[in-house]
Amino acid sequence: MPRRTKIIATIGPASESPAVLRQMVNAGMDVARIGLAHGTLEEALERMRVVRRVAEEEGRRVGVLVDLPGPKVRTASFGLDGVELPPDSVLEIRVGNTKCTDQVIEVDYDNLFQDIAAGDQVALGDGQVLLEVTDVRGDLATAEVLHGNVIRGRPGFRIPSDRLSLSTPTPEDLRGLDAFISEAVDMVAISFVRTGDDVRRVDVEPHPDGPLVIAKIETQAAVRNLEDIIEASAGIMVARGDLGTECLMEETPHLQKRIIRDCIAGGLPVITATQMLDSMVQASTPTRAEVSDVANAVFDGTSAVMLSAETAIGAHPAVTVATMARIAQRADEEFDYVRWGEGIRRLRMTDADAPKSLTDAMTGAAATAANELQVAAIVCISASGFTVRSMARFRPQTAILGFSTSARTVQQLTLSWGVTPILAREVGSYEARVSEALSLAQEADLVAPGDVVAVVAGMAEATDVLRLVRIH
Ligand code: PGA
Ligand code: MN
Repeated sequence: MPRRTKIIATIGPASESPAVLRQMVNAGMDVARIGLAHGTLEEALERMRVVRRVAEEEGRRVGVLVDLPGPKVRTASFGLDGVELPPDSVLEIRVGNTKCTDQVIEVDYDNLFQDIAAGDQVALGDGQVLLEVTDVRGDLATAEVLHGNVIRGRPGFRIPSDRLSLSTPTPEDLRGLDAFISEAVDMVAISFVRTGDDVRRVDVEPHPDGPLVIAKIETQAAVRNLEDIIEASAGIMVARGDLGTECLMEETPHLQKRIIRDCIAGGLPVITATQMLDSMVQASTPTRAEVSDVANAVFDGTSAVMLSAETAIGAHPAVTVATMARIAQRADEEFDYVRWGEGIRRLRMTDADAPKSLTDAMTGAAATAANELQVAAIVCISASGFTVRSMARFRPQTAILGFSTSARTVQQLTLSWGVTPILAREVGSYEARVSEALSLAQEADLVAPGDVVAVVAGMAEATDVLRLVRIH
């Protein structure tokens, strides 16, 4: 069985060269994630162009996801050699941007003392150091080091997001996004979302013409407002790095399961992210625990698994992608498809909204028919990708071929579980579109004469066609 779960890899200094990208594309990268937190906007745009060029040269379809960093408060510099902050030491915190020492941390944020209070726990960087604020008085705060470490450069100073008065997306995020939209980026991820309105503020043209908008769930408020955020978004990321700092870390596995289930029930693709194969930043093989983590995310029902530092700054970007592909493919074989399909069928049909429940019923019926008859493929013909995503959430055992005449839709389907996206020509009538799709599938050796395939199509406003067709 070919791999069904999709792989997202973050592009950074270790992976931006055409040679490494080529290896990553061939190792199974489905979507390239480009962050705007480091480097210039022009450098980020250039990364997108190189990814696209390499994918095209290799004849592979790779989506591009731009990740907007959101409000990030940073300290002044600890210098390149770093400063050790030992556990239990006591520090002063001030507003400023000259330098940090083991006595005074300067934070580059004017509103700092409105946003922090005694008792707050503040992580530096990705949690290398954890401080507890002990007192805030006027323009000075004191803090105690709970977890000590050496800290370098200008780490993030993570104010609990419920207190932070800055909101996401920031004006800088939106400027970056505009530049990426002018080059037709496929997807955008929004960091530190707290409400559905944070997502709505992105205010791009609805997909497929605009990018697929993905909300990163990494704050406590986002967990509380999940339903509204799902409503406002086209995809979700379980951003376990920050989520594990914002919530009790023992909650993250359970949040992961709940977020995934709610997204899939709603037909949204969902990404499980961060530290999945973290030891491969250095090592050439993962820990056994990491292998299990990737497989368990697949069993939870994730649409995609993501690599961050592993491919952005790691020593073995392509080997890491290949390793993840093997683990995901093996887990896909063991996935309990029948149980999953039944579970989704129980969760769906709760929405009284007519076009949606029509699609629910039709894609659910297609999944049942495809499994019972063991058809060779499910041919989905869709304009916006809605039918294909609705189909994917049932996790049919059969390959899903996602056809669209929109190049943008096809690119956006790189994120969807189990979907092979295929660009179709504009051919007019419904009958012509079906035969065009079937001949493209044959040309690509995805189906053969004699095969029976299920055709699912949205011709009016919802999915309204289900047929079983024998290929001649
Ligand atoms: P980041 O988001 O890598 O942009 O921080 C993912 C996460 O927090 O897990
Ligand atoms: Mn994050």
